[in-house]
Amino acid sequence: MPNLTAAAAGPSSFDVLVIGGGVAGTTAAACLRDLRPRLSIAIVEPETVHHYRPGWTLVATGQAAAPAMQRPREQCIPSGVAWIRAGADRIDAEARCLSLADGRVLRYRKLLVATGLVSRWDQVDGLAATLGRNGVTSIYRADLAEVTRTLVADFKGGRAVFVRPQLPIQCAGSAQSILYAAADLFRRRGLATALSFHVDGPALHSVVHYDRTLAEVARQYGIDLQLGSRLLAVDGDRRTARFQRLDGTLVEQPFDLLHVAPPQGPTPLIVTSGLGDADGWLPVDRSTLRHLRHPDVFGIGDCCTASGSKTVAAIRAQAPVVARNLLAAIDELDLPARYDGYSACPILTSRERVLLAEFGHNGQMLPSFGGDPRLPRRRYALLKRHLLPRLYWRMLDGHLGIDWHAPLRNRRLPTPVITP
Ligand SMILES: Cc1cc2nc3c(=O)[nH]c(=O)nc-3n(C[C@H](O)[C@H](O)[C@H](O)COP(=O)(O)OP(=O)(O)OC[C@H]3O[C@@H](n4cnc5c(N)ncnc54)[C@H](O)[C@@H]3O)c2cc1C
Repeated sequence: MPNLTAAAAGPSSFDVLVIGGGVAGTTAAACLRDLRPRLSIAIVEPETVHHYRPGWTLVATGQAAAPAMQRPREQCIPSGVAWIRAGADRIDAEARCLSLADGRVLRYRKLLVATGLVSRWDQVDGLAATLGRNGVTSIYRADLAEVTRTLVADFKGGRAVFVRPQLPIQCAGSAQSILYAAADLFRRRGLATALSFHVDGPALHSVVHYDRTLAEVARQYGIDLQLGSRLLAVDGDRRTARFQRLDGTLVEQPFDLLHVAPPQGPTPLIVTSGLGDADGWLPVDRSTLRHLRHPDVFGIGDCCTASGSKTVAAIRAQAPVVARNLLAAIDELDLPARYDGYSACPILTSRERVLLAEFGHNGQMLPSFGGDPRLPRRRYALLKRHLLPRLYWRMLDGHLGIDWHAPLRNRRLPTPVITP
């Protein structure tokens, strides 16, 4: 059980204060505790439920039940780590203190920022008002994963429109997972469907080899791929979405089903505390995860600039690095650990196959397993469905398992035969 005494004791001081009790903050706190059990560590987090977000894809595709994708927060906070149930209001990096929304002030020796990101539903006119109604849904919200499953399962044919916003977003591949899983289902049922995918960007994936695979998958499903197309507005009652193309042209697209991955951005705390970069993300050294301007501040996960791709897989690789470096910083030593930029996203290309896209900084592939990494495989679908959720819950308590991402060198790649 977490140590709750600190929460009741008023203003307090900690060796390491972690802001954000998502997978990044929790895993890093557990790693710190394991490396140095006598360290005083607290996680500041207002929400009482921890969500396994990759599971929302499983729920939406009928492969898992929604309740299994969340746990009470108190079961997820590592033992020996204090949980302060409050929102952080403002960081004063010079004074090394944190003001909470309830007025308390906490002091720290080192700060770890792990606040994730925020979905900006408001950036698309009319979207928030019609979410969950009029055929409009998203797997990027816990309560809509089941709505998505029902909408896809009950679809009788017609125009199905899928949307991916400008990057960065959480696990960008998930916006494609739901598209291909739905396309697979519609094809099996023989439904007359016009599928389109609007991408606010130049490609389906930043790694050219995965991009080619995904373009081929989209082609095989007959998906109308619209690159450089930004969703501006949704009119739920008229079931029409408005897009803007790169040349400024506005396009009205009627739909019977609309799946939207929302625009996403940095959390307000980073911006209001003056710790952000020009776009509001926490700027960290991409190897050591230390803040570029404030040596007592480190970052991990979706909130920071360590990886262009925001995933649990990246956090799995970052957590032991940031824990070791935080301890070295406390001891006033050189930072010993380096993050290599690893990230991964299992992208469903059908109900039965997954493309395991693993990659690092600069777009190189970092495949962990044998075989051509560009091929969607059944065994990766089993990994996504059965193994990864179990590994996730264990990871929160510092059990990182084997470091399977230690990169194999890429072989010369022949032209693959792709089966979605
Ligand atoms: C649909 C979907 C599918 C995905 N699939 C995959 C996948 O297959 N594989 C994969 O690797 N990744 C996947 N991801 C991405 C992955 O879930 C995220 O990268 C990961 O959960 C981010 O963790 P985090 O701890 O950085 O942020 P979060 O989980 O967002 O946690 C941040 C925490 O900080 C707290 N917080 C924010 N502001 C404050 C504040 N001011 N004070 C205190 N606390 C605050 C929040 O309440 C939150 O609990 C998926 C994501 C989605 C949405």
